[in-house]
Amino acid sequence: MTVPRKVSRTCLRTVVDSGFADLSKMNFDISDEQKMVLDEVDRACRELRPFEDEAYLANRFNDRLVPIFRKAQLLGLPISRRYGEGQGADVLTYVLALERIGREGTGVRTFLSGHTSLGQVTVQKWGSEEQRQRYLPQATRGEKVMCFGLTEPTAGSDPGSLRTTFEEKGDHFLLNGSKAWISNGSIADVAVVFAYPREKREGMCAFIVEKGFEGYTSQQQKHKLGMPTSDTGSIFLDNCRVPKENLLGPAGKGLGVAYSGLMSGRLSVAAGCLGVIEDCIDEAVGYSRQRVQHGKQIGKHQLVQRHIGIISTNLEAAKNLVYKAALLKQRSDEQPDNKDLREHADIMIAKAKYFASNASYDAADRTVQIFGSSGYSFETRAPRHLVDTRVCRIYEGTDEIMVQKIAVGLLGTEFEAYR
Ligand SMILES: Cc1cc2nc3c(=O)[nH]c(=O)nc-3n(C[C@H](O)[C@H](O)[C@H](O)COP(=O)(O)OP(=O)(O)OC[C@H]3O[C@@H](n4cnc5c(N)ncnc54)[C@H](O)[C@@H]3O)c2cc1C
Repeated sequence: MTVPRKVSRTCLRTVVDSGFADLSKMNFDISDEQKMVLDEVDRACRELRPFEDEAYLANRFNDRLVPIFRKAQLLGLPISRRYGEGQGADVLTYVLALERIGREGTGVRTFLSGHTSLGQVTVQKWGSEEQRQRYLPQATRGEKVMCFGLTEPTAGSDPGSLRTTFEEKGDHFLLNGSKAWISNGSIADVAVVFAYPREKREGMCAFIVEKGFEGYTSQQQKHKLGMPTSDTGSIFLDNCRVPKENLLGPAGKGLGVAYSGLMSGRLSVAAGCLGVIEDCIDEAVGYSRQRVQHGKQIGKHQLVQRHIGIISTNLEAAKNLVYKAALLKQRSDEQPDNKDLREHADIMIAKAKYFASNASYDAADRTVQIFGSSGYSFETRAPRHLVDTRVCRIYEGTDEIMVQKIAVGLLGTEFEAYR
């Protein structure tokens, strides 16, 4: 391939590493195996929808989600078949499943992000074989719910400022601190949490902590803007006794464990946002065909068409980013020692999450506009997406953190806006 002289080394690496330098290799066809998985996901989502509708309007947790998804064996899709009902799905297949699940609402997908993408995937990647055997089968079967506790009341975008601490006491650790805004936080049986050694602000460690451990309590977060059907909670660790064997990953490498979990979590957010946009398109097109004003269907008004055209174009752009990020993540998972590939996947995931989150929020907003006052009632789907999908621009790395990460990928680490 001849490279124009003015293309920077970074740009060149981006093109070559992406796997799409040869355009003939671009292929988003769905294999028969993927189609089988997606059919099962679709069936489970259809079964879930009436319960989700009911729970949403009643402003309560949807307790049918786990049993229905368990029956369809969807609670451990990317987890190896060695562990309970893990399905061993590759990254793209899992992303496609999350895309379909995202149509049911950001709350439904968020449950899976917390339980699977953040909780189980992190244990699968960093856990010892004994830890995997102990925690993954019950999680893939939905007998135990998992969560990922990084954020604290005073540490969000800056996980380096965590205040939770641990100290070694013979055969166990004592953890002290609290975690806030944790997806599945008050219902989780098993949490991956992060803490610094007491009196030291380096050497963060990750731990697997069970709800039943002495000193562990949790509480539901109330009065949220959206996602009433899924749980968000706080976790309190008060001299929480954690057995030594529950240290997750190498001692002192907790920040790396957290960042790897966030890569998986961010990708799940981006995938779910595709589903939100697709559901908005269904709603917007259906209503535009049916609603008549000024003597014609509103879909015949050009300004309404503009909304639909923009939503649909953004969907295609978002899909390309999300699928490309998924393929890069897959390759990076297969080559764990390839640092360049991991960084490239990390930045592509940030782009996918940033773009898809904003596109889904925009799609929900435009769909509410198309519905007029009917779009102001939670009895229709678009306003639910509007309030629910707003969080995608905040959690797992805010818009601001994502764009800075993307920019630093081009400028170089000496331009990092924060440390
Ligand atoms: C519903 C929900 C579910 C969640 N689930 C989880 C979960 O499962 N696990 C978990 O660990 N956390 C979870 N979170 C927490 C979430 O990841 C954090 O809220 C998020 O990282 C932002 O942190 P913060 O809220 O403390 O905001 P802050 O970090 O205080 O940021 C406030 C504002 O300042 C901006 N800002 C901060 N630093 C910079 C900077 N250097 N440059 C530019 N702008 C900056 C931010 O972009 C933001 O606009 C969840 C949050 C919500 C709302």
